[in-house]
This record gives sequence, structure tokens and C-alpha cells, in this order.
Amino acid sequence: MDFLDFHHHKPNQVGIYNLNLNEKIRARRFSIGLHPKDITEDWRSDLEKIKGISLSENCFAIGECGLDGLISVDEKLQTDIFQSHITWAEEIKKPIIIHCIRRFSQILHFKKAKVPLIIHGFNKKENIAKELLQAGFYLSFGKAALDNLSLQKIIEDFPVQRMFLETDNADFEISALYEKVSEIKSISLEDLKMQMWENLENVINYG
Ligand SMILES: [Zn+2]
Repeated sequence: MDFLDFHHHKPNQVGIYNLNLNEKIRARRFSIGLHPKDITEDWRSDLEKIKGISLSENCFAIGECGLDGLISVDEKLQTDIFQSHITWAEEIKKPIIIHCIRRFSQILHFKKAKVPLIIHGFNKKENIAKELLQAGFYLSFGKAALDNLSLQKIIEDFPVQRMFLETDNADFEISALYEKVSEIKSISLEDLKMQMWENLENVINYG
């Protein structure tokens, strides 16, 4: 069984590839969205383009999109654009891959969305992880989990049915992360792989 890399930027990896806006539609699973750092004055036409591309059957999720507290893009605009992604995802019934930097309390306001919400690259404190879990979010963990002890503790307590594993744009083997997590959670590598595919199934065919 393949290692599912939930969110990545490597065209030939197995998992969900983050398609760039001007790239050709791919024959493998991909997601598409407007990353907050890519918001420009052309955001309306970019959103229209995203809507068109996302109708492809190989588009498995909308995103990454979200809120970023470390960039200079107007926060109200970021929020409006994120809401547009959610509204569209609800319309076409696809999950959302969320990019969130320092805006978790604002992200929590979106918990009533009618599609599965997955925070990618989670690397924050345990209380935030718990709040997100209670609010129904999934969390996807990346490279930081290889050696960050407090993140490993979060993973130890976090239900495996609500998590994903990803390389994002970091340069390492996804198998190393699976090995680490299988050790932390004391489950076999095969069971972990199977669970990640099942989780993907669940966020795609929700409700
Ligand atoms: Zn990414």
C-alpha cells in the first residue's frame, strides 16, 4: 500500500498535489485554491479560474486557502476570500485544505461549514489542537513532527481517525513521518497507512 501524502508540492508523489493556478489540470489527485500570500488585485478572476478547475474529477479538495497573520494582505479581504472558498466547496461538495498562521481563533468561526475542514501543517499548542478537534476539524501533520517533542505529544493523544500526514514543501521522505507516527501511536505501519486512506475516503465521501 502506498504512503498517502495528504498535501504536497511534488508532482509525482502519491497523495494530494497542490496545483498551481497556472498549471495544467493533472491526471492525478490535486487540490486548488488561492493561498492568502497569492492574493492580488486579480483575486476575483483567480477565484473564477479556481472554480472552473475544481470541477475536474481529479480535484479532491479546495485549497490550500485560509488566513495568514504574518502577511500584509488585508485581513478582511483574506477572510472574504476564504469564505468564498468555503461557499464554493459546499456547492461542489469537496473538502477544504486550510493554511492557517496565527489566526486559529478566527478559523474556528468557520467550523459550521458543511464540508470537512483540514488544517494542514499543524504545528501549534495542544490546547489549540484540542479546540480544533472538538470543533470538528481534521489536522494534517508535517515535517515538524519528526523531531518536535511537544508536537509528538499532541499526536500521541490525537485520534488517528482525524489526522493526516504530509510533506508540504519540505524535503524529506513521507515514509519517515509514517514510521515516526506509527512509533508514537504504537500502531503498525500498515494499519497507519490503511487508516490514512480511510480518512481520505471519509473526507471525500462525507455526509
Ligand atoms: Zn503547501
